[in-house]
Amino acid sequence: MKAKPQDLLREEILALQAYHVPEASGFVKLDAMENPYPLPPPLRARVAQLAANAPVNRYPDAGAALLKARLRQTMKIPDGTDLLLGNGSDEIIQILAMGIARPGAVILGVDPSFVMFRMIAAFVGVRFVGVPLRASDFGLDLEAVLRAISEHRPALIFLAYPNNPTGNLFDRDALTRIIETAPGLVVIDEAYHAFAAESFLPLVTAHENLLVMRTVSKLGLAGLRLGFATGSARWLQQFDKLRLPYNVNVLTQLTAETVLAEQEILADQASAIRDERGSLFEGLDALRGVTAFPSRANFILFRVNDATGVFERLKQRKVLIKNLHGTHPLLAGCLRVTVGTPQENRTFLSALSDSL
Ligand SMILES: *Cc1c(COP(=O)(O)O)cnc(C)c1O
Repeated sequence: MKAKPQDLLREEILALQAYHVPEASGFVKLDAMENPYPLPPPLRARVAQLAANAPVNRYPDAGAALLKARLRQTMKIPDGTDLLLGNGSDEIIQILAMGIARPGAVILGVDPSFVMFRMIAAFVGVRFVGVPLRASDFGLDLEAVLRAISEHRPALIFLAYPNNPTGNLFDRDALTRIIETAPGLVVIDEAYHAFAAESFLPLVTAHENLLVMRTVSKLGLAGLRLGFATGSARWLQQFDKLRLPYNVNVLTQLTAETVLAEQEILADQASAIRDERGSLFEGLDALRGVTAFPSRANFILFRVNDATGVFERLKQRKVLIKNLHGTHPLLAGCLRVTVGTPQENRTFLSALSDSL
């Protein structure tokens, strides 16, 4: 008798819903917080040249020294810190979770937040505790978080700053209290830093239990799959042992290093997206039956009466956004739209107005 999956796999794995990526060809794609702008042709030509000459017969530089130096320079990473690189910041979350996965360990986050925190906890068999955000404004309920910390003693706390899918920045003093109070590590996930201009990066040398995580994905390089965490070497040297050798491939190393050397290109694109976020917010706010929530990221969360109906009607009009209705009680009626090009945003707003 051969085993069936339910005989061999852990219950948490059997209970998981796979991370769903919808088919998007032919759509105005505003569902995944991608930067809508391509790289300028001269830079693309340089990347093509480098890719043509890349020694793909060899393993990549395991320490990614050039890329790390470039990241330190362009992201202003404080001296005296270590850098842990991942195949996207999703992999960093996984490495950290694997590292602390002792029996009884807990990962704490807030709800609703980035779904991978909870999913990856399940992958590695660690209990996840999600503290609800305030219903009124999706703000952090500091007292509730501090109570949960004292009750569950989490080894790891993940807080996205700005938060996904709500788009807001949590109160800075509240986060500092959490960092000071937590018995374990606190990871501030700054995936949307380019659109928020607020950061805990300068504080990593002041708090040994603080790690700051960033990614190049939302910045305009989602296809490369590159994220990193920075903080104290004492912690990151331990987690680095769990990183698979060569996890950042040679084409990613070359391309990221080259593009980040021209960082003002991505910075200008981010600035255009921030401006466009303002127009998109006004457009949403002007529609009857739509409540839009202020955002410091490159997406906007909004509430409508019949979210699933609106989502489906937008799809019929070839506009793809994200339906969050049903994923958490606080997100009842909520949809999330990524800020696109001015043209894409106009198409979206007009399709939305016809879909309400
Ligand atoms: C998109 C996102 C990530 C994942 O980024 P990758 O580097 O593409 O894996 C991490 N955290 C948050 C909050 C995100 O929204």
